[in-house]
Amino acid sequence: MKKITIAIDGFSSCGKSTMAKSLAKQIGYIYIDSGAMYRAITLYCIEHNLFNDDQLDEAILSKEIDNIKVEFKINSITGTPDTYLNGQNVEAAIRSMEVSNKVSQVSAIAAVRHAMVALQEEMGKAKGIVMDGRDIGTVVFPDAELKIFVTAKPEIRAQRRLDELHSKGDTRITFDEVIENIRNRDHLDQTRKESPLKKADDAIELDNSYMTIDEQMQWLLDKFKQKTTS
Ligand code: C5P
Repeated sequence: MKKITIAIDGFSSCGKSTMAKSLAKQIGYIYIDSGAMYRAITLYCIEHNLFNDDQLDEAILSKEIDNIKVEFKINSITGTPDTYLNGQNVEAAIRSMEVSNKVSQVSAIAAVRHAMVALQEEMGKAKGIVMDGRDIGTVVFPDAELKIFVTAKPEIRAQRRLDELHSKGDTRITFDEVIENIRNRDHLDQTRKESPLKKADDAIELDNSYMTIDEQMQWLLDKFKQKTTS
């Protein structure tokens, strides 16, 4: 069967990655979490003191960006890709609240976006890829055969994210902190100048506020089958 490109965009913490990862596994496609790439660059900025009182040194980052290596390697235990920053596995470190609170500042920088989009285009050259993010259907793969735009109510997204953080042992984080982070990121991601978060005209919208993961997967598989059998 001919392989296609699948773009899954949407708001923070609405379960895009879970859906994209699971779909890729079921249909034998490569899965790429583009948000992880922006998170890895953010971790680099934190580790290299490019934040001064929450103010990011954009000039230095723009100069260094081409020398920062972000890549994915399949984890032999989970079977899914882990994120590497300059050769180090940073899959856990990039999920911290500190990174979540700073990532939208980093991802708004043109030089960062250009470098990441170039990498993403390269990864998708051979098709057979499911990539999730904010601008995949609009900028990275405007010709993707299947585009999904996922939304859910902010309170529901915050509760899901909190449950996930708590299940990983991060029990000090409160619901209020998580929802504030989600609202800030939604705002920054939608209002930035460089490729803001928006639904592509030809994307199919999915509000998964009241859907189980199984229901979402069935919905997504149906859309995939419609595209590949028509
Ligand atoms: O998907 P995730 O929530 O991990 O993404 C983290 C952040 O990375 C987003 O809030 C957004 O600022 C940025 N991002 C982006 N473009 C993408 C994917 C993520 O700007 N394609």
